[in-house]
Amino acid sequence: MKWALVAFTLLLVASAIAEEVGNDLEIAKECNEATCILPNCRCSSTDIPGGLDPRDTPQLVLLTFDDGVNVVNVQKYRTLYGRKNKNGCPIGVTYFVNHEYTNYRLVNELYNMGFEIALHSISHQTPQTYWAEATYETMMREFADQKRQMAHFANIPINDIHGMRIPFLQMSGNSSFQMMNSAGLTYDSSWPTSRFTNPGLWPYTLDYASTQDCMIPPCPTASIPGPWVLPLITWFDLNGFPCSFVDACIFRPDINDEEAWFRFIMGNFERHYKGNRAPFGFYVHEWFITSTPAIRRAFTRFLDLLNNLHDVFMVNASEAIEFARNPVKIDEYKKKACRSRPFAPCPFKSCGPLTAEHTLMTYWMEVCTACPNVYPWLGNPLGN
Ligand code: ZN
Repeated sequence: MKWALVAFTLLLVASAIAEEVGNDLEIAKECNEATCILPNCRCSSTDIPGGLDPRDTPQLVLLTFDDGVNVVNVQKYRTLYGRKNKNGCPIGVTYFVNHEYTNYRLVNELYNMGFEIALHSISHQTPQTYWAEATYETMMREFADQKRQMAHFANIPINDIHGMRIPFLQMSGNSSFQMMNSAGLTYDSSWPTSRFTNPGLWPYTLDYASTQDCMIPPCPTASIPGPWVLPLITWFDLNGFPCSFVDACIFRPDINDEEAWFRFIMGNFERHYKGNRAPFGFYVHEWFITSTPAIRRAFTRFLDLLNNLHDVFMVNASEAIEFARNPVKIDEYKKKACRSRPFAPCPFKSCGPLTAEHTLMTYWMEVCTACPNVYPWLGNPLGN
């Protein structure tokens, strides 16, 4: 009886603590530029960090690809190997990878090419309301667990995993940002803006209230010091409608018209380059680039052009956050050493058939570690 009472009291204490994590948040106040200072705090603003002049500001370009990495799309990713910025450093590309159907041997390969591996959830499940309503605990299972899972199966250092993007860019209010603090994630790249495009919104923190438009609610309302928001500054299609992903633009050039595609891409790029030089995002899914020769050629021409501009740098998304935290003029930026990482080996194994406990489907996986016992999934990210 006594033990039952103790257990009951412990349960009460535990649930009180859980409530604090979940709900005891302070509503964010209007940002105060005098107290919110770099490198750890920045108001949501279109001002260039460090008060730089646009012509002194490196134009950072973020090429990102979403979803599983597999033997089909890696063919396209491999064509980016060896490409360099004008300063001689290898370009950056960021992959927001979800777990299902991902080949971890290939993730390891992308990592070793210097690209950034970021998180895109374990399940990537529908319906979209799942993400809108996701609690802190759900986001921990989808992202904090995925961080461990990615580091484990792709054999990459866990401290090199910094970023995340929620499936369907569906915001989940405060819970994803609270989770980021627990999981040691630096930036979120899920939040589109069509209001702050010219001048563009630079990355910022959530110590204070965001002024960003909330296109896919719920957006965070609490003061959550720590994580950075890397806003997805939308493109505009030919009729002026905003699109967060290039493949989501509705009124777009004829798929066989390379010249029109090149102009379309350039038009969107120049809004940044000739404006306040907020990082320019080329956010896309691989199939779209590969789908037609004209788009593929226009894309390649665009990258060739970027790589010949002395003030443009294709970088990993986390490097854009690093720049926002520690802004420097172009001349100094160019002098920085290129990124380098110790090689991460992959003594790979093909595993399967592995049964998924949630669907009873069977899967095959390639991993850089020992094979899991069952197909890894929510609640069992390492497949023990
Ligand atoms: Zn996705």
